[in-house]
Amino acid sequence: LLVADDVSKSFGATQALSGASLQVFPGEVLALTGPSGSGKSTLLHCLSGILMPDSGRVGYDGRDLGALGDRERSTLRRGAFGFVFQFGQLVPELTCLENVALPLRLAGTRRRPAEQLAGELLARLHVSDVAAKRPGQASGGQGQRVAVARALITTPRVIFADEPTGALDSRNGEQVIRLLVAAAKERGSAVVLVTHEERIAACADRIVAFQDGAAVPAAVAR
Ligand code: ATP
Ligand code: MG
Repeated sequence: LLVADDVSKSFGATQALSGASLQVFPGEVLALTGPSGSGKSTLLHCLSGILMPDSGRVGYDGRDLGALGDRERSTLRRGAFGFVFQFGQLVPELTCLENVALPLRLAGTRRRPAEQLAGELLARLHVSDVAAKRPGQASGGQGQRVAVARALITTPRVIFADEPTGALDSRNGEQVIRLLVAAAKERGSAVVLVTHEERIAACADRIVAFQDGAAVPAAVAR
C-alpha cells in the first residue's frame, strides 16, 4: 500500500534519514520504535507526503508521491490518510462532536450526516459524554480518543499516529491504542504508529525498530 524505498532526508547538517526503506501493507498495524532522533517522525512525514525526501522514493498505491503536484498530494492526504498526534490538535472553539465531524464537513458533507457519524464514532471510542464539550473541558485521554475518532471518520486507508499517547499515562495510553487498533481493523485502515513504549508497540501486528535514520535489519516480526 505504502512503500518507502531508500529514502534520505537531511535538515542542514543533520541527516535524519539515511536510506530508510519500509513497506506498509493494507490493513496492518505497524509500530515504529527506536531512540529519540532516529528518524521516526521524519519517515512518517515522508510517508504521508508532508515532507519531500532528498533522495529515494515514496509510493502510495503504485503512485510516486514525489511525482504528484502539491494539490494532488494534499487531496490524497485529506482523502486517504488520517492523522493523530501527541497532542490532539483539536480545534478549541469547536465541540468534540464538531471536531470529529470536521474532516467530513470540509469534504462537503452536510452537518446532520457528518455529526451523526461523528456521534457513532465517539460512542465506539467510549467518549459520548464529551460530545457537547469543548476539547479544553475533556481529560487528556478523552481528548486523544476524540482525536482518534476524527482520524477515523473519513475511513482512511492509512492512519499515521506519532506518539499519540505520549502525553498519557501508560495504562490510559494502552487503552487508547487498543481502541484505535480495533476501530481501524473494523474499517480496514492500516495504522503506522510511532511509539517509545514496548507495551504499546506490542499491540501492533509488526514492529520495525529504527536506528540512525534507517530500519534495523533484524526487525522483529510477529
Ligand atoms: P523522537 O523519538 O524524539 O520523536 P524521532 O525518531 O521522531 O525522535 P526525528 O524527529 O525524525 O526523530 O528527527 C531525526 C533527526 O532530524 C533529529 O536529529 C532531529 O533533530 C532532526 N530534525 C527533525 N526535524 C527537523 C527539522 N524540521 N529541522 C531540523 N532538524 C530536524
Ligand atoms: Mg518523533
